Order: sequence, then structure tokens, then C-alpha cells
Amino acid sequence: MGRLASFKVYNKTCHEINPKKTGRFSNQAFLKPGVDVQVDNAIIIPMTDLKLARILAIETSCDETAAAVIEKGRVLLASTVASQMDIHARYGGVYPEVAARQHVLTILPVIEQTLAKAHLALSDINAIAATRGPGLAGSLVVGLNAAKGLALGAGLPLVGVNHLEGHIYSAWVYNADDKPSPKPHFPLIALLVSGGHTELNLMDAHLSYQRLGATLDDAAGEAFDKVARLLGLPYPGGPSVQEAAENGNPTAFKFPRAWLEGTWNFSFSGLKTAVLKETKRFEGGPLPVADLAASFQAAVVDVLFNKTMNAAREFKVKQIVVGGGVSANKPLRNAFLAQTEFPVNIPPLSLCTDNAAMIAAAGYFRYTLGHTDGLEIDIMPTWPLS
Ligand code: ADP
Ligand code: MG
Repeated sequence: MGRLASFKVYNKTCHEINPKKTGRFSNQAFLKPGVDVQVDNAIIIPMTDLKLARILAIETSCDETAAAVIEKGRVLLASTVASQMDIHARYGGVYPEVAARQHVLTILPVIEQTLAKAHLALSDINAIAATRGPGLAGSLVVGLNAAKGLALGAGLPLVGVNHLEGHIYSAWVYNADDKPSPKPHFPLIALLVSGGHTELNLMDAHLSYQRLGATLDDAAGEAFDKVARLLGLPYPGGPSVQEAAENGNPTAFKFPRAWLEGTWNFSFSGLKTAVLKETKRFEGGPLPVADLAASFQAAVVDVLFNKTMNAAREFKVKQIVVGGGVSANKPLRNAFLAQTEFPVNIPPLSLCTDNAAMIAAAGYFRYTLGHTDGLEIDIMPTWPLS
């Protein structure tokens, strides 16, 4: 019998065992830092063999330098996001060279701060995950190379993660102190709505994506950003359009909805042009910004919500998952949360826009399902999900 300082004990199915009972507990104990326990004949299994794996992830695909640690694929231990938003706001969008340089300056402090917040050292981590793509090449290189350096230095496996996959997996992440959110239930429909992508995917299992449809032109977030500019609202457009819309009438303007019947595709450029036409009508006078914002937002939400619901019915899914920056949109969240036909997982607001927790979550499933990578992997700036 030995005293193992600072460990919690888990059984084979990763359920925590009451430390008081561990004196009689035999050879199936899994150990992790946390609580003092006494174990007589426990076998200490190397962490790399455990579902209990902790992933340290890095995300630098665009203008956020982020790191996070996730345990068991869903439990968020620490997350840091260093936003460059203020720097890029003066350009009205992301300036790639500036973004890359900023990542170089912030990546190491962000990683150090994340491990410190989680009260962990690299020796407590099982694998390093990093976003490989899609994204800005100069930005991706910084994060992936930092991950390679950490993996090499600490002798840990490296996992390259698709950023879009990360947005989907963010929907199952919950804070260590919070009540667990519902687990993945397959088959499911994943609506991915970000600044660069808008697509519907059918998932039959982890890491398996059948793209049912995608936008033919602008992504939903891009449409929000462009309409914000038309209305003279600040960057990033999504939150400012949402805020302006709070004082507006969503039926004031009859904006078009591109249903694209018979397909699961989307289109938002016609809607954007319709907003532009209306703004021209008001040239020289005050623009009804709140009504335009509310009517535009209602059109986007209408299409995203109804097409996703129709796909969920068609493919008889067990769950709907919504991820990506636009999943922060209040009316869109409310539409999904108000219906009772399908269980819905939407990420907490802090994990809707780019972050590393989502990369750690997807990285966990890649790692535990055996999809690790060699140090020779490169960035993939246009990497599709499927
Ligand atoms: P990326 O395309 O780089 O992965 P994100 O996933 O971080 O981007 O999403 C950013 C996009 O989300 C931007 O286009 C932004 O306008 C949009 N967005 C953020 N918050 C909201 C919101 N509350 N309503 C609508 N769109 C939003
Ligand atoms: Mg993103």
C-alpha cells in the first residue's frame, strides 16, 4: 500500500471513484492529479492509454491567438483567447500580415497562461492539437509550428485538427464547474455557420462528415459583416447588426429568402444586394438602420433555422448541432432552443467564435481514435471538412 499524493481515481469507464473507497479498490484504478488517495494494488496505467486524456490545443487560423486544455473531450479546464480585434478594426477586416506577426508575439504567453490557469504542466498533457486549416496561411503556420515544438520537446503526439471540425465539436464542450451538456448522439445534423463557411453536414459517427450542402456565395457571417458595412456599423458585423436589430422591426422590409428548394445549399448574396438597394433608396437622408438590421437578420435566421430543421427531419437525426461564429446570434439560438422536435447542442457564447477549446475537443476524438500526425505535417489553408 502506497500513498499517492495528488491523485483522483477512476474506474475503467472513466467514472470517478469515491476516494474513501479506494483502500479496497484493486487493479483497475486510473489516476489523475487532484486529490490525495490511498490505493493498495492499483495498476497505474500510462496516461496515453486512457480515455481520460488531456489535450492542449492551439488555434491561430485567423486573428485570434488561442490555447486551451480539455479533458475527456468535453470538459474545459482552461481557455485563453487573445483577440486582435482592436488591431484589425481600423482596417474593417483582418489584415493577414499583421495577424501573423501578432500571433508570433502572443503565442507563447497564451500557452503559458493557459497551462497556469489549468494548474497543469506539459507533463500532465497527453497530446498537442493544433489547427492545420482552413485559414490564413501566415497565421496557421505560427500555431502549427508552436505545436510541433511543444510535441517534440515534451515527447507528445501531435494532432492536426480541421478548424471547421473544431466548430462542430465546440457544441459538446462544457466548463469543468458546470453541469455536463448532452453528449453526441448520432446520426446528427451539424449546421456550421462562421465568417468563412456555411454548411450542413450529416454525421453518422465521430469525425465522419457528409456535406449535404453549403453556401453558393457568401457565408452567413460574411453577409453579416458586409451588411454591417452597408449600414455603417462597426466590425465585426455580426454582433453590431444583432445589437442594432434589437431596436428594429424584423418585418419592416420584405427581404428575399433563397430557399434553393430541392438542395441543402444556401445563398446570401441576393439578400445582401437587397439590403444595398434599400440603403440607396435612403441616400441623402437618415438610414433606418435598426429596421434594416432586424429585417436582414430575420431573413438569415429564417433560412438557417428552417433548412436545418428540414434536414433533421429528412435524415431522422437524434441531435442537431450548431457551431461557428454566427451560432452566437441570439435570434438564431432562440429559434433552435424554442423548438422541441430535436435535442440541440449550441456552444456556450464564449466558444462560438474562434477559440482553442474546440480544437482540443476535436483533437481529443482524433487522438483517442488513433488519428495522430507526424511532425512533417504542413498547414492546409483550404482544407475542406469532407
Ligand atoms: P471564422 O470564419 O474565422 O471561423 P468565426 O467562427 O470566429 O470565424 O466567426 C466569425 C463570424 O461570426 C463573423 O463573420 C462575425 O460577424 C460572426 N458573428 C459573431 N457574432 C455574431 C452574432 N452575434 N450574430 C451574427 N454573426 C455573428
Ligand atoms: Mg472559426
